Amino acid sequence: MDRQLAEYASSNGRQDERTEAEIDAAIHASFDMVDEAFGCPLCGNCVMDKLVWSSDYEHITCAACGITYTPGE
Ligand SMILES: [Zn+2]
Repeated sequence: MDRQLAEYASSNGRQDERTEAEIDAAIHASFDMVDEAFGCPLCGNCVMDKLVWSSDYEHITCAACGITYTPGE
């Protein structure tokens, strides 16, 4: 866990679901982002977990807004 985030959580005196979700989001933000050029052209989503490649690896479906697009175009 990120040390600063852990200190923030304890100093704030709350360890509820929202805090854990925020820490989880921060961890994902630093590890699971694709390059902006491959992100969703409609909503700008770059979260790898929400971008699903087609079986031929030519298209990506954005799980956030539902469109399918060709990356890099
Ligand atoms: Zn999208």
